[in-house]
Formats: sequence, structure tokens, C-alpha cells
Amino acid sequence: MNTEPQVIVIGAGPVGQSAALLLARWGIQVLVLDRRPGRDAGGSRSICQQRDVLDVWAAVGAGKVAEEGLTWTTARTYYRDRELFSWSFEREGPMPPFVNISQARTEQILDEAIAGQPLIEVRWNHEATRLTQDASGVTVHCGQRLLRAPYVLVCAGARAQQVRQSLGVTFDGETFDDQFLICDIKADLPGWESERRFYFDPIWNPGRQVLIHPCPGGTFRIDWQIAPDFIPTKTDISRKIRQIIGERPYELIWHSTYRFHSRIASRMRVGRVLLAGDCAHLVAPFGARGLNSGVPDAENAAWKLAFVLNGWAGDGLLESYHAERHAAARENLEVTAATMRFIAPRSVEERMHRRAVLEGGLVAEIDSGRFAEPYWYVDSPLTTPEPTRPFTGRPPKGALCPPAPGVILPDASIPGGRLREFCRDGFLVLLGDMCDSSLFVQVLGKVTTAPLAVRGLAEMDGTGSLTERLGAGPEEAWVIRPDSHIAAIIPHAGPESVAAALSRAMGGSPDMTP
Ligand SMILES: Cc1cc2nc3c(=O)[nH]c(=O)nc-3n(C[C@H](O)[C@H](O)[C@H](O)COP(=O)(O)OP(=O)(O)OC[C@H]3O[C@@H](n4cnc5c(N)ncnc54)[C@H](O)[C@@H]3O)c2cc1C
Repeated sequence: MNTEPQVIVIGAGPVGQSAALLLARWGIQVLVLDRRPGRDAGGSRSICQQRDVLDVWAAVGAGKVAEEGLTWTTARTYYRDRELFSWSFEREGPMPPFVNISQARTEQILDEAIAGQPLIEVRWNHEATRLTQDASGVTVHCGQRLLRAPYVLVCAGARAQQVRQSLGVTFDGETFDDQFLICDIKADLPGWESERRFYFDPIWNPGRQVLIHPCPGGTFRIDWQIAPDFIPTKTDISRKIRQIIGERPYELIWHSTYRFHSRIASRMRVGRVLLAGDCAHLVAPFGARGLNSGVPDAENAAWKLAFVLNGWAGDGLLESYHAERHAAARENLEVTAATMRFIAPRSVEERMHRRAVLEGGLVAEIDSGRFAEPYWYVDSPLTTPEPTRPFTGRPPKGALCPPAPGVILPDASIPGGRLREFCRDGFLVLLGDMCDSSLFVQVLGKVTTAPLAVRGLAEMDGTGSLTERLGAGPEEAWVIRPDSHIAAIIPHAGPESVAAALSRAMGGSPDMTP
């Protein structure tokens, strides 16, 4: 890269990789810096990836994550040796609800996509120590080396303390006492290949939990909650595995112990710098809300940075990054903190509650993790509320939210492809049958220079199922953002009301009044 990059991404972990690919997809020149000497494939960490994240990766040339990942559909929860309940994910669109794949493999696939993207340069051995900024850009201090770009996206993970400090950002929260021992084993366990199993108090781990996830290639992730001071030896690990799988042969591929954290950055935007992924929020992994929320951070940041850099929106759009993704992080903290209170109770009352609930089989109160889902930008400054289409609140586990302003658009087949794929290149206005498309095209074409497609719903609805799925009326207009979130549903739409909703969804650029 001979010219100054438009965005510097700090950190080549999966969030930084995703961000770089998404920015490049918008035609933005990106420089990625990482303090490590190169990619190390050690450790599997994240394994459960959610459908909307898989969709993002497919859009940036990393569709192999979904293809190679192992699809599982049923989550079973046990108390001792008794199954308490199970539930399955609602299916929608071509992407599986969840796949399991090791983070190491995901990073490899993302690296392959980066290698084929001329707009991205990756420099290893570059540790960012400090950021300074002025009216025209940000300087990244890597020791004596100084690098500069108009905007910086920090994806430097949990340990980015120095960088956060240089921005005046705090990272408040807590660290849980209990440890977790995590092993990836290869074994033949018939019947376990498509189910997640969660055991409360099994005889092989009394008073604590065990979680088992199937992964590709006949591997399984086993996760034991262990005492705070326990340092497992090889013999302990082998004994623990044998207690679960008996005398079957197995190969231990990887193991590690972790302590989990619950932390959030005080700000996710500081001027020209945005923070994403683990460097902005850390949650316990029950519910797989770590990387599955880091990638939506990257997606949210990428389209907004692209809009600002291309002059399609004003700087104010970037503040909505903080508003939207900080709210998503707070939701994730709330959900995972409740799970941790149930899984690892700290007070006598919490312990008694857990015991009473499990012994009584009070299914509705058992919390073995709520799986990652796209956040609902219902209260976002970019969303135009519509009282006749209220947000109905957190949906039941595994279910999808009914479409409403702020909620992500359901995916659907359209002539020549998928609705979600079509959305990614700009804003989309979907019009009911009674709306005169040509009039809307004429007016809206004058109010923004941003990429915008105006389409009749009937035209997009190959099978008739889209209108039905949306419950869209003939006089309605739906304004959809590039990340597929619904910005507005306007019941009796006219070009002016749609223009106002579009303006709001782009951060209220002053040049967009019709
Ligand atoms: C046991 C375990 C299981 C998990 N399971 C799941 C799961 O199933 N699903 C899920 O969604 N999430 C899961 N997670 C969370 C997931 O692993 C993280 O959310 C994810 O790795 C975050 O990615 P990141 O890119 O933000 O940070 P990281 O992966 O930490 O990457 C940060 C990068 O920045 C670099 N860096 C750091 N500081 C600097 C600096 N100053 N300058 C330059 N470079 C720097 C680092 O070298 C690194 O490459 C799990 C985590 C654990 C520990």
C-alpha cells in the first residue's frame, strides 16, 4: 500500500479480520496492524457461530466457515442424569442457525479471504501503544513508528489496556472466581454429533457444570466448571474425559483453563476512533455472545465509516455506532451475567435458588445460556419508531423477533438471489403495491448520493412468501439499512416521509431534506 490507508484496523483477530474485509467490500483501503509476529493456530476458543455472522462472512468471501462448520440444531439440558428439557432453533433462510467450528480455522479462512483482497495490507510485529488524534486524522504510535489514517478501528482484544487508556476509555466490570477447563477431543460418540449437551451437577462434576459441543471432524469440545484453585494435571484431565466417554479411544487435541470476565468499555467511539470486539466488551461464553457480537460491531462500524469517508453521511453517523453497539454490549452483559449467577452462584440465596429450581425441575427458571441473536436497534437514534409495529421484546429462546423498526430483516429468496445479499450494497426501500415506485425513485434520487435501491415488494417477492413473512401492507414503505436492520416501516408512505426516515437512518445529514 503506497498511499495512506483510509482506515487503520488495530488487531488481526477475527473481529479485526472481519472489519478489514467489510471495509474493503465498501472499497475502503485498510491497513491492519497486529503485535504478534504472525498467525498462530493455537487454541480453539470460539466455536459456535450464529447465522447472521455466517452471513457476514459469506458476503466477504469467507463462506467456507458456514460450509465447513458442523450444524447443530438441538440443545439438551440435564440435571444429574435426568434430561430436563431440550429446544431447537427456528430455521430461516439458507444459513444454518448455528455452526460449530474452531476459532483457529475461522481465522485461517478469513486470512485466505484477506489474501485475495488487494485493498487490505496486514503488518505483523506492529504493536500500537498509543493513539493521538486531531481534526484530520489519527496517529497510531507503534513504538517509534508513526502511522496515520483518517479513522482507526481498534479490535485489539481484551488486553488492549494501553490503547484504551490513551483514549481515556475505562473497562469496568468483574472477573469470575470459578475456572473452566476446556478440552477439544477427537472421539467416536454416536448420537452426540448434532446436539449441544449441558449437564448441571453430573455425578462426574458434582455441584458444577459440564458442557459438551460437537465440532467438525469427529471432535468434541468439553467444558468443565472447576474450583478456583484447582490446577488440573494430565492425569486429572484424562480421568475427567474417561468419566464422560468411558473406555472409548480418544485423542486430546487442545486444552486450556479460563477465567471469564464481564466488562464493558466506557465508550465505543472516541472522536475518529471506534472500538470493537473483545477490546470493547467481554462476556462469559455461555450463549456464545463474544465473537458473535464482535462481528456485528465490525459490520456496524464498516458501513458507517464507508458512508462518512465517501461523503454520503456526516460525521454524526459515527456517534450512532457507540449508541447502537454499546446498547448491544449492555444487553449481552445482562444476559450472560444472569446465566453466570445461575451457573456459578455466589451467595447463599443464589445457591439455594439454583438447587430448588434444578431439583424441582422448574424449566422456565433454568438458565444454561441464551444463545447469541442480533441486537434490536429499537431505541437507536437512526430508527424511526412506528407505534403500530411495536417491538415485542426479547423473543423466546431460539425464536426470531417479528419484524419491527430496529429488528433485523428476515432473509428470503428473491429472484436471482437472497434478500440479505441484496441489502448489503446500500440502503433499500421496499414499497407496497399501492406506492408509485417511479415517484419515489424520482424524489429519493435527489435527496441522497448514497447507494440506494428502490423496489416494489412484488418485484422482489419471487414466491409471495416475503410479503407474507413481513406482513407488509400495500401502502407501506420499508427502509432497510446495509446491515439488514429495518430503519423504518411507514404505514401510509409518501416520498417525503421515506426521505425523512432515510435521512434519520444516515445520521440526519442536513443535505437530505427533500
Ligand atoms: C473458551 C472460550 C470460548 C469462546 N467461545 C465462543 C463462542 O463459542 N462463540 C463466540 O461468539 N465467542 C466465543 N468466545 C469469545 C471469542 O473468542 C472472542 O470474542 C474473540 O476472540 C474476540 O475477537 P477479537 O478479534 O475482538 O479479539 P482477539 O481474538 O483477542 O484478537 C485481538 C488481536 O489484537 C492483537 N493485539 C492486541 N493488542 C494489540 C496492540 N496493542 N497492537 C496491535 N495488535 C494488538 C492481538 O495480537 C490479536 O491478534 C470464546 C472465548 C473463550 C475464551
